[in-house]
Amino acid sequence: MIPYEFSNYKELYDRKLVKLWLDISTYCNAGCPQCHRTNANGLGKIEWLPLVQWSFEQFKSAFPIRVLQKFKEIHICGTWGDPIMNKDIFEIVSYILQNTNGMHILINTNGSIRDEEWWWKFGVLVRNRTTVYWAVEGINPKQHEKYRKFTDLQKILNNMDSFSAAGGISEVFTVIFEHNEKDMYNIAELSKKHGARQIMFIRSNRFYDNNSFKYVDTDGTVDYFYKSKLPINKDFYYKSWDLYNEESMRIIYEESNQA
Ligand code: SF4
Repeated sequence: MIPYEFSNYKELYDRKLVKLWLDISTYCNAGCPQCHRTNANGLGKIEWLPLVQWSFEQFKSAFPIRVLQKFKEIHICGTWGDPIMNKDIFEIVSYILQNTNGMHILINTNGSIRDEEWWWKFGVLVRNRTTVYWAVEGINPKQHEKYRKFTDLQKILNNMDSFSAAGGISEVFTVIFEHNEKDMYNIAELSKKHGARQIMFIRSNRFYDNNSFKYVDTDGTVDYFYKSKLPINKDFYYKSWDLYNEESMRIIYEESNQA
């Protein structure tokens, strides 16, 4: 079913139905081995990717108010870097919110960037007009950092606490591997305790034809992590808290071990 009837892009734009997807930084403090920006041989940035970021002035010039007001929603994601690394993210978000009427912003981050004070101020700025998706992938640092290299689980939880308490909307994004699938319920509980309203579980789809992923760590040691055994038809879970309980997580885990 086509949700809206329109004949061309201009019509969609004029009816304020376009959702904008922005990548505003190629900087990142993490080194997730399967990320597009990570070189799996040493976990640094891939050589050919330039380190660039949008400035506030560039953003305003690309999106003057009359243009900005045409969009339905803005999703600031991090395909090539983490948006919270952008030095002007606070000003950019403030400008969008001040100059649009009720527009909602979505931001993906690993969450281990900036401190609780910054996140408090950011939460006060955006309140319920911005949703931040945080990466929580374990119930302890070792499990979390197995994939989210160079990030700090406690820092993420503290930042999420602070942002949520200030009025921002927090949701958690968890990539599922063999090393954390058994703790889905506990990751959901931990996230809820630190202010998340919902959690999204998604199985990594970057193993291609293999069950394992090999990478070389910063010190030159070779390491691996493994594909989740969750059944193929259960790649995606996105539920409100009242649908989460230990029993549903137990069933998912047991099914995954039978697959
Ligand atoms: S946090 Fe995001 S942008 Fe940074 S390395 Fe990980 S997946 Fe890539």
